[in-house]
Amino acid sequence: MLDALYKPKSVAIIGASTKEFSIGNRIIKNLLDFGFKGLIYPINPKADEVRGIRAYNSILDVPNEVDLAHVVIPNKFVPQAVEDCGKKGVKVAIINSAGFKEIGGEGILLEEQVVEKAREHSVRVFGPNCQGIINTSPDIRAYCNFTFTKPEEGCISIVAQSGGVGEVVNQRFSELGVGIRMYASNGNACDISIPEIIRYWGDDEETRVIVVHVENLSDPKEFMEAAKEVAVKKPILGMKTGRTKEGAKAVSSHTGGLAKVDIATELIFQKSGIVTFRDQEELCQAAVAFANQPVPKGKRVGVITNTGGPAIIAADELVEAGLEIPPLSSHAKKILKEKLYSAASINNPIDVLATGGAEHFRAALDVLMDEPQIDSIFINFVTPFFVDTDAISHEIVEVNKAQKKPIICNLMTDKRQWTKTIGMLKNGGIPCYSLPETAARALIAMTRYNDLKARKIGKAAIFNDVDREKARNIIQQAKKEAREFLSVEKVNNLLASYKIPVAKWRLVNNGVESLKAARMIGFPVVVKVDAESIVHKSDAGGIALNLKEKEVESTVKDMEKKFAPEKPRFFVQEFLSGGKELFMGAKAEEGLGHLILFGIGGIYVEILKDVAFGITPITASEAKEMLSSIKSYPLLAGFRGEKGVDQNILVEILQRVSQLVTDLPTIQEIDLNPIIAYEDRIVVVDARIRI
Ligand code: ADP
Ligand code: MG
Repeated sequence: MLDALYKPKSVAIIGASTKEFSIGNRIIKNLLDFGFKGLIYPINPKADEVRGIRAYNSILDVPNEVDLAHVVIPNKFVPQAVEDCGKKGVKVAIINSAGFKEIGGEGILLEEQVVEKAREHSVRVFGPNCQGIINTSPDIRAYCNFTFTKPEEGCISIVAQSGGVGEVVNQRFSELGVGIRMYASNGNACDISIPEIIRYWGDDEETRVIVVHVENLSDPKEFMEAAKEVAVKKPILGMKTGRTKEGAKAVSSHTGGLAKVDIATELIFQKSGIVTFRDQEELCQAAVAFANQPVPKGKRVGVITNTGGPAIIAADELVEAGLEIPPLSSHAKKILKEKLYSAASINNPIDVLATGGAEHFRAALDVLMDEPQIDSIFINFVTPFFVDTDAISHEIVEVNKAQKKPIICNLMTDKRQWTKTIGMLKNGGIPCYSLPETAARALIAMTRYNDLKARKIGKAAIFNDVDREKARNIIQQAKKEAREFLSVEKVNNLLASYKIPVAKWRLVNNGVESLKAARMIGFPVVVKVDAESIVHKSDAGGIALNLKEKEVESTVKDMEKKFAPEKPRFFVQEFLSGGKELFMGAKAEEGLGHLILFGIGGIYVEILKDVAFGITPITASEAKEMLSSIKSYPLLAGFRGEKGVDQNILVEILQRVSQLVTDLPTIQEIDLNPIIAYEDRIVVVDARIRI
């Protein structure tokens, strides 16, 4: 419980300063200016008072209980201050001071000491190297923070790993005239973590929307669990920054190169049901809609407009994002025909015309609220001087009172002249936007949240027909051999032990043996050179495809000569013609499990970069989603008379790969490329496993 942090009855400032431009002074000023309802105890051994409030020599001298203490003193004194807090019975310490983990070296040790002292004395720590918190609740008014934005009261709670980003978001809400509920920026987060804060707000009834900004997740699993738990209760709008560093990194045939460095965080957001944004403005604008409106139950939008062009822009934006603007029922059209001007358009979008007045808007709103195939309402409202726009606002607000379906308004007006109209809408809880795209994107985000909430991820299948013991032994032996990449023999046996289908194969030492092996496999065959030093066999000229009986022995003999220095063996494999080449992979992600990759394989991996990602354990529905999310999906489904591939088996293999790496976490990377896929058969022909 973070009540002592967010609802403190008393706050001490260890390092309270009489100097105006210091953090130890600013926090006290902020608490006073914000109207903090509790008691403030400046701690300063040299001053009698700070900002007119009696100061104490030490926290231990404070006569009453202290819930929360700010620590604003040089880093090396902080562990002692935490100990003093513990002795005093302080429940939470916000350590604003910097000079910890973020500076490395000695800072890391100091932070460890802080954590140790805190545990020993049962003090929870927020920070260090952080801004602090805000609670706008009228009976608390806690501004335990040294920054400057004074938010209005509202229902959006914000946690930002970067204080700078948090401040920008707070400022933007302030400019938009939207209030917030609670705020947190916890810096190094040595104890109280973002997942813990998210959970706390999940239980906070006044928090309707949660905004999360992260740069890196220190405990991705914990984050995912907390977010998952809370996102079904209320929307979490998330933004992850620091994506681009590796974002466009050139793709190598290696799984490691394909997985963008921070793809994992995006996947975690997705898997937890967080509505993800790449743009702060879009996030803030969407938050305004979430804060005021119910979530749409589906993708179908009813549009009301009194002007043409902007409605087209909105419609484009909505439809491109997968929303629909369905036709209205004949019943609805009949009502509209009666109530609107004869020149009005009674289809969806409903054009009430620029001359349409309050009763026309009302009729259109009522119709859309009653239409079962409409989930949300988009109003495109220009304020002409020849109609009573206040009366129109009044009707919109009236209809909105029932909170039956979300209403989003693109309000095209002059903000200086139509203040009353605007004020009515805003006070009535109608999110208003100045551009149709912005309004549309807010509605799209709300619809996306509904989709995320409604989806059924299911549980990952557990295949009991796998031979775990055998797989474990293979890995253990490979470790003994101290090989980074498993031998081709081991790879094929390992895959087979998890019933991941591999092409028929034999490993041989020379040309004579190769012919015997090929006869057992059946013709035509493929011959591949096998040596630890040769990673990309085709680049090295170590692959011969589609060999007939008479070609096998001589081909292998040629390769023997060519690769003599590598002392190779030879891998004889059945030749599979005419299938589609696909790719699957897995890559270990610290603290998380493995990323699973899927895409079009062979040489196309590098050209198309058409890859879908997932996080272990993959469920069937996630695997299906991975298949259908690649751009080349039509190739899998079948295209222009060309046959598709067996997607059910692919889904199963993806899950088997997921189970394999989950059972054997020492596997760093699996690279199945290509997998040859047919309508009724899927076979791996080349695989690499790195441990
Ligand atoms: P590497 O990736 O080391 O170059 P691969 O074993 O993936 O070697 O083979 C390269 C290409 O040869 C594959 O992408 C595929 O087009 C083809 N190929 C390999 N094995 C077979 C096979 N058994 N049947 C048909 N084509 C194959
Ligand atoms: Mg290959």
